[in-house]
Amino acid sequence: MDNKTIYFDNMDSTQMLEPVFDAMKPYFMEKFGNPASLHQFGLDAEDAVTESREKIAGLLRANPEEIVFSGSATESNNSAIFGVAHEAPKGKHHLIVSKVEHHAVLNVMKLLAKKGFEVTFLNVNREGFVDPDDLKKAIRPDTLLFSVVHGNHVIGTVQDLKALGGVCRDSGVLFHTDAAQSFGKTPINVQELPVDLISMNAHKMHGPKGVGALYIRKGVKVGRLMEGGPQENNRRPGTENVPAIVGMAKAAEISIENLEKDNAYMIKLRDRLIGKMLEIPDTHLNGPRGENRMPNNANITFLYIEGEAILMHLSMRGVYVSSGSACSSIALMPSNVLTAIGLKHEEAHGSIRFSFSKLNTLDEVDRAVDHMKAVAEQLRAMSAFVPSKHSEITGAGQTFYKKKKNEL
Ligand SMILES: *Cc1c(COP(=O)(O)O)cnc(C)c1O
Repeated sequence: MDNKTIYFDNMDSTQMLEPVFDAMKPYFMEKFGNPASLHQFGLDAEDAVTESREKIAGLLRANPEEIVFSGSATESNNSAIFGVAHEAPKGKHHLIVSKVEHHAVLNVMKLLAKKGFEVTFLNVNREGFVDPDDLKKAIRPDTLLFSVVHGNHVIGTVQDLKALGGVCRDSGVLFHTDAAQSFGKTPINVQELPVDLISMNAHKMHGPKGVGALYIRKGVKVGRLMEGGPQENNRRPGTENVPAIVGMAKAAEISIENLEKDNAYMIKLRDRLIGKMLEIPDTHLNGPRGENRMPNNANITFLYIEGEAILMHLSMRGVYVSSGSACSSIALMPSNVLTAIGLKHEEAHGSIRFSFSKLNTLDEVDRAVDHMKAVAEQLRAMSAFVPSKHSEITGAGQTFYKKKKNEL
């Protein structure tokens, strides 16, 4: 990255840290054995996996046997939910999930709903929080599992796992949380939190892509998704991705060692950006303020202009962010998270997520704000949506909006 580029898309992925890469390197080039092999090379690789498992377990205050490595947080989410569904006791066919989930949870639930499970999609409030009382009301005698994203990937809401898990415990309901964003940024201690299953990955905390883990509390029955060898205690067949697993453990260790310092720093970046962005007219913040917000997330709606247009213009200026549409630039569905907190479609489409890491600087925040001010002004000058212009171009707004989409 040149020093003009401003990468504010750290909730999509992060830059790998040098020490993480260094820890991984030997397992590509020198210690490349298969952990299942019985010779010394195999044993070395197996030791690396064992040590990494112990590290991750230690950081969560879990037992190493409760950690299963996977290929991503997506896979961990699939394993947790499908796995529990596979093992569902008779008469337990009801699942509960929030409406602000990542697609790796939401689409699993939607598929299970087609396969004979009943799924309740829980509302959230304007800031994205699930109310424990709503969860209590949704639980039935046949409820098997509740799943919620811990640190929200769009609006930064950090759910109260203790309260929600407490409700689950009281009713004998299993509790899964998707901690892809929060692991390494929010303390997670399974001795204190009533959580049964936790999905994690490495690439949101300066580790490698293509590796994740699932914490499975001892005694929780989780069926496996794939058939094959006996790896991962018979729970996830396939030769372990040794370098990536080593990288994940290293990245987790560095993140948690520096958690307070890094969070305090990112909060400074976040709050400065929020304050300055909200000086732009017709803007609002999505998600909560304060300590129940991910330290690295700011999500702002810019009324009367489209997120995709903002994104492209910022990108041309070397500022990289995400918009409020669900997936790629191809899909024009607004994000399920933004509609769940009550944004209208055009508000969701005009929303931009700025997400930080400890590698960003205050100077980058100031420069990004300047770029955003210029882009907002430029786009609003062309927008048929700005209220003051409505009298001139009555009725033309929608056509203009669609046409511009195609041109992008
Ligand atoms: C990134 C992310 C995922 C998917 O993780 P991958 O490892 O990229 O598959 C799942 N849930 C949340 C909340 C995420 O932010």
